[in-house]
Amino acid sequence: MRYISTRGVSPALNFEDVLMAGLARDGGLYVPEFIPVLSSEEIKAFKSLKYEEVAYSVMKPFVGDTFTKSEFKTLIEGAYSSFYNSDICPLVELSKNNFLLELFHGPTLAFKDVAMQLIGKMFESILRRRNSRATIVAATSGDTGSAAMEAFRGNDLADVFVLFPEGRISGVQRRQMTTLSEKNLHAISVGGDFDDCQSLVKQMFNNVVFREKVKLSGVNSINWARVLAQTVYYFTSAVALGAPQNKVSFVVPTGNFGNIFAGYIAKQMGLPIHRLIIATNENDILHRTLLTGEYVRENLLITSSPSMDIQIASNFERLLFSLEEKNGSKIAKKMQDLSNSGRFSLSPGALDSLRENFSSGSASNQETLLTIESIKEKWGEIVCPHTAVALKVAESLDDRDTSYPVISLATAHPAKFPEAVETATGDIPNLPERYADLLTKEERVVNVKDSALRVQEVITDRILR
Ligand SMILES: *Cc1c(COP(=O)(O)O)cnc(C)c1O
Repeated sequence: MRYISTRGVSPALNFEDVLMAGLARDGGLYVPEFIPVLSSEEIKAFKSLKYEEVAYSVMKPFVGDTFTKSEFKTLIEGAYSSFYNSDICPLVELSKNNFLLELFHGPTLAFKDVAMQLIGKMFESILRRRNSRATIVAATSGDTGSAAMEAFRGNDLADVFVLFPEGRISGVQRRQMTTLSEKNLHAISVGGDFDDCQSLVKQMFNNVVFREKVKLSGVNSINWARVLAQTVYYFTSAVALGAPQNKVSFVVPTGNFGNIFAGYIAKQMGLPIHRLIIATNENDILHRTLLTGEYVRENLLITSSPSMDIQIASNFERLLFSLEEKNGSKIAKKMQDLSNSGRFSLSPGALDSLRENFSSGSASNQETLLTIESIKEKWGEIVCPHTAVALKVAESLDDRDTSYPVISLATAHPAKFPEAVETATGDIPNLPERYADLLTKEERVVNVKDSALRVQEVITDRILR
């Protein structure tokens, strides 16, 4: 399997090089040259398999010969042995045709663990084979950071630097990063918002000298392997509800468009998904794009679902590439428009195919909090604010979207967002036992202003020590 850049200039790479590179040198994102399709028999057979076995079958064609069969199986087993639920991503029935897919049973309590645990294992295996080291830099809107650190905890071949927006993530999220004591893990707080953090990371990747010097790698959702690992739970959950004979729809709380794009890949692989429904908070650029065909950047708002406080949805570029007939120079032009004037337009054909596959909805802050309360009252479940955004949008679907079972993705454990849950319900959700000392441990963090140079200094200084 080979991967091409969405901007059409960088040369095609294999899976291993795409995993290690993250972003393409032309500024684009890597996508597979073609999507392998599974037969209905293959999909049907997933019903009797364990999560790990489905993961192997779904991902193997994309991974090519980067790992031997037995090596890849071992990496998958290792990755998911860190989960605290034997189903890995259990499906919970709320009411008839209304399901919650719980993606937060990994070590850091958010769905980012599903991909990151596997990525940590894959990196380790490749670095060991190459006898090499890597410097991993990630921007986080709250959950990617701790998931990345946890995945590389104690790995002596990689340093991990996480940039998070100062004061814009929950205290639990921050402490999950700043209280880790391993020497290869570094938390950096940035005076800015998530888009600023993401832009700093991009600037570092575009600095070829720095990039080579520190052997820079990225594990943000721009990394293809993240998307790939997330396709798996679309298969396991749909099959549990009768796919491929029966269709399902998914409602996905969306920020950077990584999770829902994985659903789109699953659909292209032959999984019969009826609708993919984008659920946004008040930062609703994707919802507006579906309504108007114009992708227009606005000011970032602070909401109670901080992991979705994003305006530039990086992975949307991958979808755009697919919708705009894989024309790299057209994508490069639109991205240039976005950076020059904060907007670009979809071609009419692309907008039509976008609407063929996706619906969208948005939930205000108040609706999100009211939904947490009403879910607790109706079903006795406490959900995190991101999950509540999805459930609110699921509640407002029209008939086109509800003719099949609807699976809403529960992307984080409620205890990661105690402030929002307490405001909504009056109760403070309990952290799992393993985090008992989280709120009292000492924190370790470097503050930087919004400056790429300063971040590069910190990184160089720390890894060469
Ligand atoms: C990252 C995150 C999201 C958004 O996922 P994207 O892949 O960026 O769309 C939603 N909810 C939670 C809890 C997250 O951590």
